[in-house]
Amino acid sequence: MNDQELLSVVQEYGGPLYVYDTAVMQAQYKRLQQAFTGVNKLRVHYAVKALSNISVLKYLHSLGAGMDTVSIQEVRLALEAGIPAEEIIYTPNGVSMEEIEKAASIGVQINIDNLSVLEQFGTKHPKTPVCIRINPHVMAGGNTNISVGHIDSKFGISIHQLPHIKRIVENTGMWINGIHMHTGSDILDIEVFLYASEILFKAAEHFEDLEFIDFGSGFKVPYREGDIETNVEEFGEKLSHRFNEFCQSYGRDLTLAFEPGKFLVSQAGKFLAKVNVVKQTTSTVFAQVDSGFNHLIRPMLYGSQHYISNISNPDGRERFYSVTGYICETDTFANNRRIAEIREGDILAFHNAGAYCFTMASNYNSRYRPAEILWHKGKSHVIRERETFDDLIVKQKVLEF
Ligand SMILES: *Cc1c(COP(=O)(O)O)cnc(C)c1O
Repeated sequence: MNDQELLSVVQEYGGPLYVYDTAVMQAQYKRLQQAFTGVNKLRVHYAVKALSNISVLKYLHSLGAGMDTVSIQEVRLALEAGIPAEEIIYTPNGVSMEEIEKAASIGVQINIDNLSVLEQFGTKHPKTPVCIRINPHVMAGGNTNISVGHIDSKFGISIHQLPHIKRIVENTGMWINGIHMHTGSDILDIEVFLYASEILFKAAEHFEDLEFIDFGSGFKVPYREGDIETNVEEFGEKLSHRFNEFCQSYGRDLTLAFEPGKFLVSQAGKFLAKVNVVKQTTSTVFAQVDSGFNHLIRPMLYGSQHYISNISNPDGRERFYSVTGYICETDTFANNRRIAEIREGDILAFHNAGAYCFTMASNYNSRYRPAEILWHKGKSHVIRERETFDDLIVKQKVLEF
């Protein structure tokens, strides 16, 4: 989408809003597929938590993606999108046994990440195929909040507990049909990922009836031109080669699975907000938009540096700005950022706003959550309306005093 198209969307629907471009999602999906043409069976499960709008799920499913879910509600959203249970994998952490049993009864692939649940589940449902989430203890993440493979991480069953896993499997007679890892976001070093994969292959040798190995996700996407990103093509070639070798020694063709969120939708999304005021202080120039961390929390939560462009004045002379919102709490989007000259009323575009942006939005300060627009084949479609005052009060029970 070009700046004119983005502006036309704001003009039509008002702001602030999220716009997602299906062409970008498709290009990313194809890229991943092509990187792994070397393996016979590839399965891509889209991580629903990144962007869970039903129309987005439907679109990605139309490309061939299954869904990776982390809650029973995400499972329901995927079903609502018309995706068959057998194309959904459920990878919860710290949820109740009841929720896992509920998901299993729907028929989705269960992925278990702790010994206690593994034992309970295997004892009660030995016939239900289960995938095991392994923690290989390899650090592959960027921000400490999003790297989940380290020793203190709450995710996965430690690779050092493999003997215990095997004992549970033998005692219960349960069927382990998949081995999984997800070491966190922002993999830069392919060698580190391949090293973690070796640990997974070693673990896989201990299970006779596997159908798939799931390598999770963590593909790093660029946040601006020239930014480093995971070299998916090189990664695909190397891992495919190693995977085929493994399948040969294992004696069976397994499915290679991934569950990318960011990689598929991050760059497809832009968040558009209007500049309410330009405020010169003694130290900087603030551009304050009609939004805040209620709509886009990643800069405050993870220190994410979303590229910001002034689509109302793209050719303006660049100046330095601190971009903040209207929340009554610090809500800095960017400090000391070079942006084409900003005037009050201009529309700013926050890039890489497809993943973990709308899904993390809230009503803090009693503001409405924005609308979501899908840009498909040169046309805009509302896929979620902006909230209204009714949405803020509909669940409240009001007492009289
Ligand atoms: C969040 C998550 C993903 C997606 O991670 P991205 O960095 O968005 O690709 C994949 N698998 C699991 C289990 C997750 O929790």
